[in-house]
Amino acid sequence: MNNQQTTRRKFIAQVSSLAVGGNLILNGCGQNTNQQTEQQTPFDGAPCDDTRAVSEAELIKRTSFGYVSESPLADNQCSNCNLYLPPKEEQPCGECILFKGPVQAEGYCTYWAVKAS
Ligand code: SF4
Repeated sequence: MNNQQTTRRKFIAQVSSLAVGGNLILNGCGQNTNQQTEQQTPFDGAPCDDTRAVSEAELIKRTSFGYVSESPLADNQCSNCNLYLPPKEEQPCGECILFKGPVQAEGYCTYWAVKAS
């Protein structure tokens, strides 16, 4: 192998390395862009129904208690339940002592309890 062939091989190896490295960088940037797009997708419903940040375990709890965002009983709603935690300052949704995540004031579940006076 002469000196010119060696130089040509080194050049091809360097160009290949740059191409592979550039591809990895571009792919990495593309994945980050996709993840940001997913996170930035606006919720298309009432704010207190947005459970995207709630864990699967808490969603299962919520469902097992029969929580609904609109009570079927006019006199029994989260807002007058003893286990309801009213919205904190400037928050649109309340919470429940039994599970994590936003709760509608007009919601209800089978654990509704009369407010202690
Ligand atoms: S126990 Fe049920 S009715 Fe009471 S605040 Fe929690 S979710 Fe609402």
